Amino acid sequence: MLGLKGVHSRAQVLIDDDLSVDFSPDAYYHAALFGADMSAVKYLLVTHSHMDHFAPSELILRGYKYATDMTSPTLDIFGNAEICAVYREGTKRELRQDVSERITLHEVAAFEPFTFGEYTAVALPARHTSQDPFVFLIEKGNKRYLHLSDTGLLPEATYEYLEAYGGKPFDLVTLDCTFLYQSSEELRRHMGLDDNKKVLRRLQDMGLVDQKTKRVITHFSHNSSPTPELLARAEKEYGVIAAYDGLELNV
Ligand SMILES: [Zn+2]
Ligand SMILES: [Zn+2]
Repeated sequence: MLGLKGVHSRAQVLIDDDLSVDFSPDAYYHAALFGADMSAVKYLLVTHSHMDHFAPSELILRGYKYATDMTSPTLDIFGNAEICAVYREGTKRELRQDVSERITLHEVAAFEPFTFGEYTAVALPARHTSQDPFVFLIEKGNKRYLHLSDTGLLPEATYEYLEAYGGKPFDLVTLDCTFLYQSSEELRRHMGLDDNKKVLRRLQDMGLVDQKTKRVITHFSHNSSPTPELLARAEKEYGVIAAYDGLELNV
């Protein structure tokens, strides 16, 4: 038994109860095990359409006989054109009309900041699928978060935008660390620890990462054997926090 530290479910980050970055097939498990109130999520940012990041058929659970007393009956989803298409395919059979009427799809484009509630976000190109995958810069009040998953080493255009956008260092950066200690080649669509180090150094050189920035590695492949022992070693050697199911952070 590895316990929860040895379990890595599929991608989802919850921010202040009302914002979710990605919505994986494991969202129900996150709610059941960690008490995450999915009905409180008002906003959903989706990085790309891979099934471990976006499972629109699960939204059927927002309907009558599954959900009662929804904290937020409405949901705004932000993603690229592919996300809008996958949403329509995944919900066309079972999603009740009264649920669908309370869900709004917003197609967003790279480099164009958008606002919702107290948040501002910008989608930036990732190096991943061929279908315009995004990473996200998210701001709320004076807090800044850079979500870098799924992606390989960032495209130059993303660095250029971040440098021009400027601002104070990020409070939190989460990084795709699929390969962990396994070597990865340039131009691959995911990263390992050495790639994470390169990205963090570039951001540091731009003044966007400093010693106070929390750096979290996540999205481990089971092929890279992310055992608690190996992740503890990575934390020590690379000065990062290794994510696990149910990890909570204050920034
Ligand atoms: Zn992916
Ligand atoms: Zn993924």
